[in-house]
Amino acid sequence: MTVRLLVTDLDNTAWDWVEAWYHPFVAMMGRVAAITGVPHTELYRSAQIVFRRHGTSEYAFVLEEMPCLLEHYGGVVHLDELRPAIEAYRETRERVLVLYPGVVETLATLREAGCQIVAYTESLSYYARTRVFRTGLAPLLDRLYSPPDHDLPDHRERYDSAYDDRAAASLDRRETPEGQLKPSTKILQGILDDFGVSPQETVYVGDSLMKDIHMAQSVGVHDVHASYGCRHDDDAYELLRRVTHWTDEDMERQQRIRSMGAVRPTYVAAGGFSDVLDVIEEVSGQGARAPGW
Ligand SMILES: [Mg+2]
Repeated sequence: MTVRLLVTDLDNTAWDWVEAWYHPFVAMMGRVAAITGVPHTELYRSAQIVFRRHGTSEYAFVLEEMPCLLEHYGGVVHLDELRPAIEAYRETRERVLVLYPGVVETLATLREAGCQIVAYTESLSYYARTRVFRTGLAPLLDRLYSPPDHDLPDHRERYDSAYDDRAAASLDRRETPEGQLKPSTKILQGILDDFGVSPQETVYVGDSLMKDIHMAQSVGVHDVHASYGCRHDDDAYELLRRVTHWTDEDMERQQRIRSMGAVRPTYVAAGGFSDVLDVIEEVSGQGARAPGW
């Protein structure tokens, strides 16, 4: 059996999302605290209000909506004064948002062998495609599936001047229906239909046992657990939990998924993304690096 399609999760599968979220956020809030004198606890509490309002913990325009900053500035946040904080965010992000080792080489090898590559993420489209371009992943993807954006302020270029809409247009993208979340199988099944491949011809890789692996097994594709991307509790995760946009309803949903029982992956990529090649070699029954498998 030939593997014709690789579907990959992105956050903590292609790059370390927690690191890429944490360091820029902390750098930005540190500067905001220094400039305004508003304590960190109050800033974090305010940030969570905004994140919940927009349903994402990476809302890029958080500063101008934070209640404690609106109060500090008397109604309109002075972004010019906070520019060093926005710069700190950008500079830090440039440093920490990088692909895991082996991602580029692995995907390039697969493409050369005729395997199509699809990314399927639950990160909102704007953030997903920005990361896909910033990391250099875009040219290696045949398509990106991600949920539709929330309403973005039309002055986003103030924050993200390097972001290029024309580049984004070169990426084949599909928006996933709102409210359809992993481990629901509808979207993954739809991806297989879009590409005209069977589950046996498809490999799925992702870091979440409860979402990625459970979903992949339900559809019957070959599942690979990106265990190298799993985060253990640490300062970064703790802060994320503290300011997260997750609502009580989201937490209950997580609980429900957990109660479905232990999920055992069929294959484990412990060493890194390139372990996917070994899996494909195994399920193909011949050398993945040999031409024409
Ligand atoms: Mg993930």
